[in-house]
Amino acid sequence: LGRRINAAVTDLTRAPTLDEKAFDGMIKTISNALAEADVNIKLVANLRKTIKASVKFHELPPHANKKRIIQKAVFDALVDIVDPHQKEYVPKKGKSNVIMFVGLQGAGKTTTCTKLARWYQARGFKTCLVCADTFRAGAFDQLKQNATKAKIPYYGSLTQTDPVVVARDGVEKFKKERFEVIIVDTSGRHHQEDALFAEMVEIQTAVQPHQTIMVLDASIGQAAESQSRAFKETADFGAIIITKTDGAAAGGGAISAVAATHTPIVFIGTGEHLLDLEKFNPQSFVSKLLGMGDIQGLAEHVQSLNLNQKDTMKNITEGKFSNIMKMGPLSKMAGMIPGMGGMMQGMDDEEGGMKLKRMIYICDSMTVKELDSDGRMFVEQPTRMTRVARGSGTSVREVEELLTQQRMMGGIAKKMKGGMQNMQKAQGQM
Ligand code: GDP
Ligand code: MG
Repeated sequence: LGRRINAAVTDLTRAPTLDEKAFDGMIKTISNALAEADVNIKLVANLRKTIKASVKFHELPPHANKKRIIQKAVFDALVDIVDPHQKEYVPKKGKSNVIMFVGLQGAGKTTTCTKLARWYQARGFKTCLVCADTFRAGAFDQLKQNATKAKIPYYGSLTQTDPVVVARDGVEKFKKERFEVIIVDTSGRHHQEDALFAEMVEIQTAVQPHQTIMVLDASIGQAAESQSRAFKETADFGAIIITKTDGAAAGGGAISAVAATHTPIVFIGTGEHLLDLEKFNPQSFVSKLLGMGDIQGLAEHVQSLNLNQKDTMKNITEGKFSNIMKMGPLSKMAGMIPGMGGMMQGMDDEEGGMKLKRMIYICDSMTVKELDSDGRMFVEQPTRMTRVARGSGTSVREVEELLTQQRMMGGIAKKMKGGMQNMQKAQGQM
């Protein structure tokens, strides 16, 4: 998707005369790419209007960087849709907070509720799981296995067939035991059925969840809108988790679900393992969707390992690659760093690891504000680059390179002039 959008923008900026017709054509190409990525058709039509209105083609000064302006307009319009524009739910310490999962069978509920339980557990909450899926044989076994692996207390029954009774008993038991986060996994069906919806509402009434989360498979496609609407109307959920974002699906369905239900995405599932859960970040999500990479996602991923970062870095410096490997396959990590995938082409894992290591040092030495910025503050205050380089034990040139890769600043690339050549030379030396 990102490639197609970038190609459309590049075509436009290469066109000999940049007239409004060419601009309209480009917006059309972008719209088609979005629709193919399963963004809801009506939504795409609205986006088209938003982008056209925000770019104000006629008013652009002749030498404006049209490419960046248009890319930014697309980016901003998409971010605006997935940005929840509301405060997130935070469980209260010292209280019993009940969270209930809903969603179709295979969406990833059971996997994700264990991931979320671990996430809260790692943040100091006394956390547990309740299996209220009595519909699918083996559901309790699956939850039991996951929970045992994650060392999370669980409740379920092999004999009780009424999910409402199991949910109520489990939640009551754990409330008495003063658990702080009680996550209730429910059953799904292959299709939206009256029986499923009736059951969801009964469980909701029985356990009175503080938050209900709908789990949605990223590959849901155009069905996202009707499905999330149907769930919203019956089981009124307050948050969405998108799973399988590591898969081939473009993820446009997620955008449609948010737009249709005005409900925030809170986390995304990025793999089958316990640690493959990330806080949802609208900017990161959209930049990944558009192929721009995701620095913040990487930071979350490193944090989620719950390792002392200094120790990790020390291990890596000393050549103990086991820790960096624990962070997941290099290719996956590389995908999260803008431009990294391309830079690492042709490198083996060790070479790539070195490069990645230095990138992580650099990001580590930046403030949150700097990481979030468009890079202008580095141009305005070049001493920032010196500080980051010194703090990360790298060179100013490497910091510049990272910033350029991140498209945090288009200007610096020009300033570097032969920068790309130097970069290739430097890569050859590594
Ligand atoms: P449920 O029926 O909604 O409870 O779905 P499950 O939790 O049983 O998950 C269905 C399948 O999806 C399992 O094979 C999971 O391992 C897989 N799965 C869940 N989340 C993710 C994810 O984020 N990425 C990948 N690749 N697989 C996932
Ligand atoms: Mg399940």
